Amino acid sequence: LVTLEGVSKSFGDHRVLTEIDLAVDAGEVVVVIGPSGSGKSTLCRCVNRLETIDEGRILFEDRPIPAEGRELAHMRSRVGMVFQSFNLFAHRTILDNVTLGPVKVLGQKRAAAEARARELLERVGIADKADSLPRQLSGGQQQRAAIARALAMDPVLMLFDEPTSALDPEMISEVLDVMRSLASSGMTMIVVTHEMGFARSAADRVAFMADGRILEIAPPATFFDAPQTDRARDFLARIL
Ligand code: ATP
Ligand code: MG
Repeated sequence: LVTLEGVSKSFGDHRVLTEIDLAVDAGEVVVVIGPSGSGKSTLCRCVNRLETIDEGRILFEDRPIPAEGRELAHMRSRVGMVFQSFNLFAHRTILDNVTLGPVKVLGQKRAAAEARARELLERVGIADKADSLPRQLSGGQQQRAAIARALAMDPVLMLFDEPTSALDPEMISEVLDVMRSLASSGMTMIVVTHEMGFARSAADRVAFMADGRILEIAPPATFFDAPQTDRARDFLARIL
């Protein structure tokens, strides 16, 4: 579904991604882990062209990512992104937050978009919050609303960049549960997270990044039980 081939990226003379090769199949869940500054967020942002790349290429559904315009907008509408900060529209109800994209970008009728939004809010367990404002929700509820909002666009790929790292511990699992169920439903996902339990249970493959490179990529059982590099062993020793 998404293929990165020899992708490199620098900010000024600071090389942040070096020759990244990664192919993510439809239905696959790839969890990306690695130390701070290793390029995980940049990798995610390159996939939906929030950042441009200097070298290599990225294919989405077997085609190069369009550089700009309607084609890029269309491609982006097929990729859902959920960040650490929930980025909900503060002055809109949760229902509005979830229907805005489908109505404005996809041209859906309001009634149809609302019906679908209510289904999605049900699916992420916050159906009763449809008429609330974001600030009236807990962090975990807001993040689940952000996931519902992304899903309302009917994405074929979901990117998660540390979706639980701003949450209080007791709210992390409710968000991870939603992500786990999304993974089992067959969604293709690239997930940057420090939640190793999630990586073990939900990932098809774990990619370990350091210094802008993917040093290891393997199924979780293989990676966690037998990391191949010192960098990965050090990282796991610190985080587990
Ligand atoms: P973290 O775990 O802390 O989120 P990360 O692995 O996501 O880290 P990135 O955010 O991808 O790392 O950053 C990789 C490197 O690129 C860092 O050294 C960062 O300072 C640098 N960087 C990221 N975005 C920019 C930017 N817009 N301009 C300049 N440098 C940047
Ligand atoms: Mg990051």
